[in-house]
Amino acid sequence: MNTEEISAMQQRYLMPTYAPSLALVRGEGVRVWDAEGAEYLDFAGGVASISVGHCHPVLVEAIREQSGRLMHVSNLYYNEVQPRLAEAISQRSLGGRCFFCNSGAEANEGLIKLARRWGHGAGRYEVITLEGSFHGRTLATLTATGQQKVKTGFDPLPAGFVTVAYGDLEAVRAAVSERTAAVLVEVVQGEGGVRPLEIAYLEGLRELCDEAGILLLLDEVQTGFGRTGYWFGYQGYGVQPDALSMAKGMGGGFPIGGITAAPALSDILTAGTHATTFGGTPLACAAALAVIDIIETEGLLERARTLGERLRGLLQPLVKRYDWVEAVRGIGLLNGLVLRHPAVHLARRIQEKGLLAIPTAHIVLRLAPPLTVREEDVDRAAAIITEACAQETPAPEEQHP
Ligand code: PLP
Repeated sequence: MNTEEISAMQQRYLMPTYAPSLALVRGEGVRVWDAEGAEYLDFAGGVASISVGHCHPVLVEAIREQSGRLMHVSNLYYNEVQPRLAEAISQRSLGGRCFFCNSGAEANEGLIKLARRWGHGAGRYEVITLEGSFHGRTLATLTATGQQKVKTGFDPLPAGFVTVAYGDLEAVRAAVSERTAAVLVEVVQGEGGVRPLEIAYLEGLRELCDEAGILLLLDEVQTGFGRTGYWFGYQGYGVQPDALSMAKGMGGGFPIGGITAAPALSDILTAGTHATTFGGTPLACAAALAVIDIIETEGLLERARTLGERLRGLLQPLVKRYDWVEAVRGIGLLNGLVLRHPAVHLARRIQEKGLLAIPTAHIVLRLAPPLTVREEDVDRAAAIITEACAQETPAPEEQHP
């Protein structure tokens, strides 16, 4: 099928929740091809999910091998792959236990349930989140999300969430009450425009949570599994949360999510309190174990740090050159070119030149390539963006306030 045929069929049979413009049919490493055979450098990376590149042979083989042996048994039986994955994650994070699910939103639901169950006896149930945050599209996680656009039309929304100003420690302090169970934040707001938290702010949050006797929860759905150059984003900050969520890069494109907690919180969710049919299938866990193996064997954490710095360095001159380019920011290989007008035009122009990247928060071009990206891919992407910027002529009415 060509793009036109795929698009017509999608419009006929799929609910119109997305508006894609490109039909991708094949991927290899950091490259993808569309239905007409055109090649693209993929800095969209499945919205930061393609951690080890498209169709990495080790990941493909792990999925092939496990799917030929055992795909799913339900959690009413042991499957040996799940505890192996939990061990690998525990040893690379908080040293406690894990629970596996299928997506980022579901992982955050698990975190919220953990916090509520933990605070239940003391009447603590409220979760404080930040403006600009994104935590998912289920009713609880869209309520936790600090963006009105995801909530409109879905009320009444669940109770128990408070959103406060981004980066303002005093706003969090003022929101804490005897009802508060936890503060939930992303170390880098991905959907909020690739905004990394200040180190002092996260340190302050940790202190504040300790003083108030409440939990610090991290949504590491976008920042986890090497994206920031560490297994989890908090490790680059040196601030330990009580529990965290993960998904996206975890399966390298295969759907899997999870939560992990510090040992003291590892027994809060007990038999019958939380479950999901497809959580931690042998197949999904084999995929995530292969991703961990690839990240380790190929030294991808360090690469993410080095190549992220290279990318930011190559794009930095654009901030000086154009008054409509506000900043380049990010950590590891989660980066954004912040404009003063909508990023959609620049995204379209680079796509025409063979580079894919997804705008976020309206004015930010997000760059989240696979962690396997090479120096020459980074240089090529920066050259395409630089060339596209030279052709960008923002109309005055498009200037962002
Ligand atoms: N949390 C964060 C930080 C995210 O970036 C996302 C998705 O973009 C989610 C949660 C939701 O994940 P999912 O789309 O897998 O439900």
